Amino acid sequence: MSIKAYNTLTRKKEELVPREEGKVSMYVCGPTVYNYIHIGNARTFINFDMIRRYLRFAGFEVTYVQNITDVDDKIIGKASEEGVSTGAVAEKYRVAFEEDMAALGIEPPDIAPRATECIPDMLEFIEALLEKGYAYESDGDVYFEVEKFADYGKLSRRNLEEQRMTVQCEVEAARKRDPFDFALWKASKPGEPSWESPWGPGRPGWHIECSTMSIKYLGTGFDIHGGGQDLIFPHHENEIAQSEAYADGALFVRYWLHSGMLNIDREKMSKSLGNIELLRDILSEHDADTVRMLMLGTHYRSPLSFGDNSLAEAHASLSRIRNCAFNLEDLIRKAEGEKAGLHHSDRQTMLVHFLNEAEDEFRKHMDDDFNSAAALGVVFGVVREINSYLDEAGDIKTPAGKLVLLEARRVLDGLCGALGLFQGAAEAESSVERVPAAGGPAGAQGPSREQLIELLLRVRETAREGRNFEFADRIRDGLAELGVRVEDVQDGFRWRLER
Ligand code: AMP
Ligand code: ZN
Repeated sequence: MSIKAYNTLTRKKEELVPREEGKVSMYVCGPTVYNYIHIGNARTFINFDMIRRYLRFAGFEVTYVQNITDVDDKIIGKASEEGVSTGAVAEKYRVAFEEDMAALGIEPPDIAPRATECIPDMLEFIEALLEKGYAYESDGDVYFEVEKFADYGKLSRRNLEEQRMTVQCEVEAARKRDPFDFALWKASKPGEPSWESPWGPGRPGWHIECSTMSIKYLGTGFDIHGGGQDLIFPHHENEIAQSEAYADGALFVRYWLHSGMLNIDREKMSKSLGNIELLRDILSEHDADTVRMLMLGTHYRSPLSFGDNSLAEAHASLSRIRNCAFNLEDLIRKAEGEKAGLHHSDRQTMLVHFLNEAEDEFRKHMDDDFNSAAALGVVFGVVREINSYLDEAGDIKTPAGKLVLLEARRVLDGLCGALGLFQGAAEAESSVERVPAAGGPAGAQGPSREQLIELLLRVRETAREGRNFEFADRIRDGLAELGVRVEDVQDGFRWRLER
């Protein structure tokens, strides 16, 4: 078992060797809760969910911490815009965030600390930095003095002198000694949320929140710190400076993993361009696995351009896997009474061999910096092979071999599960029970295309039971025109989308 991950700190793929054998500790920057999350945020959270799941699939025990930033300038801005308290804004969007994560089938973190619950820890952290001479107080604010930390810039590899030229003008207005110094503590203005501190009432800066919460729950030197690439500078650079200064130079994080940005038609999502796509709006029309499929199709570090066709294409790919899984399920049900004999035909032996090789290849791609796009290619290969086997088994009317079917299901389910596909709360399996004779999946969100097809097919069944064959045939022909092939089988029907 050897996984390589690209470490932003070293700009290299490195073998992932956790601090403690067999256990991976990871911290991912959570949302600032002042709005509903957009599809770009969703990409980052899906990517880290995929990484977490794959680490577990590979045999690691994973502890996943993800914070909630519930005190911040943006929250204060939103509260004054809407005329409500900052607490009300934060609570509303925290709950919305958790709903969105559940709707996406993202596993909740093991620990989800909120910044406002860890203020005493942050105060202690800041006091230690002052004592060690890395910070200074200025008019009720406390700043980290970047000059004092020799390694500043090691993550983002920014040339500070060049940067200094561009930000020079901002320094006069601020209460800092140097433009790169950043706030650990901010004196609060009237009406803003505030906590008592040795420097007067105020609130923590964003960077100190993440250093404090990650070290509090995982200790210095934990394994993976994640977030979107937009957080490399200044957020993560500043986290390193504070945390390593605090720990007298001890390494803060072993591997820095950053997820690529999602852009809309190659442009950055931004309020001024008016192109922000909220996850909620997308989930009202597409199911969660379609969204996940779209994200998995691009390597987590590459940029992803989200366009009009993206979701339709992802849906078509997803349907190929779903249809295969359902046809497989259908045959397994029919093989219920069959003995699980050990004598396989050559064709069956070939399939089992193919499946086992595919599993190895899937791992090889995922071990190589979590290459989900290449791993999905392997899943499609598995689908093609199972489909052709099922077609042949159907054509030659021989028992399909129960053990072989079960093995095919184990492999397909295992690989999809390792990527987090079909793991959502309201997933397709239940529809198999509700419609025992049907094939075809159901989506997690609202009525999906599959659910509507099934509904039509049930109407058709009722028509057939009432011997209204003309009506039943009209439904079948209508579906055929839409590319849905329906087959009547012994105890019901099967359907699939024509490829
Ligand atoms: P925020 O609440 O803005 O701190 O964002 C939450 C997470 O989403 C962070 O890890 C960001 O890096 C990430 N993020 C923000 N915008 C995008 C985007 N357009 N594409 C991918 N990830 C993003
Ligand atoms: Zn953070």
